[in-house]
Amino acid sequence: MRLIAILSLLMITQISVAQNKVDARQVIAHRGAWKNTGAPQNSLESLKHAFELGCGGSEFDINMTRDGVLVINHDADYFGSKIEELTYAELNKTKLKNGEDLPLLENFFKMAGKNPKTLLVAEIKPSPSGAERSEKIAAEAYKMAKKYKLLKHTVFISFSYEAVLKLVSLDKKIKVQYLTGDKSPDVLKAAKVPGLDYHFSVFEKNPDWLKKAQALGLSTNAWTVNKPELMEDLLKQGISYITTDEPEKALELVRKGL
Ligand code: MG
Repeated sequence: MRLIAILSLLMITQISVAQNKVDARQVIAHRGAWKNTGAPQNSLESLKHAFELGCGGSEFDINMTRDGVLVINHDADYFGSKIEELTYAELNKTKLKNGEDLPLLENFFKMAGKNPKTLLVAEIKPSPSGAERSEKIAAEAYKMAKKYKLLKHTVFISFSYEAVLKLVSLDKKIKVQYLTGDKSPDVLKAAKVPGLDYHFSVFEKNPDWLKKAQALGLSTNAWTVNKPELMEDLLKQGISYITTDEPEKALELVRKGL
């Protein structure tokens, strides 16, 4: 009897350890997996590498051309041309360094297919023309994710609080995280924003924010976490995701169980 009791206790302990384990779903490749693969940032190739690595998510940046096309590019400029001032055809005369066209959000969703294992972490870039256009980009990106039945597989993120609130108003069930780091978990909770994705230094300056966000049921994410010690520290604190230029390193860490 005593042996059975001991064995059951051991099993319970093992289960609870397993539940606290970190896993690959927490690792988000920042702008795709580009650093160690040679793919251009924010390209279809970098997204494909993130899928192949088995990352939990792959982040990318969305801007909108003058003719309303949603394109993937980090800056408001594409090889020196202002994205909002030119049409897609005009911009696409210049190709990425691997020969790809200026990537379309639509093609990112197409590549993800049905039920992808890797989340699409879609950053809505604040428009240089102001909040109204940022909200429009958010609404159009939402529509596109819905069209491809990928809302459950998408996390929308933005530095534009207006874009974040627009997304929350469109759909209460979607995953949305605010990026700027100037609002406490309480403020976000009160505004019904379901998550935050802050620069790691914000969590260092506000040591209670991660715990607070977790207690409030917000999803949590930190960028851009490239150092293994920092990856380990945040993962041990049970952060939902870390966003990194080094997904290979982060995956190695989580697969070793830290
Ligand atoms: Mg980004």
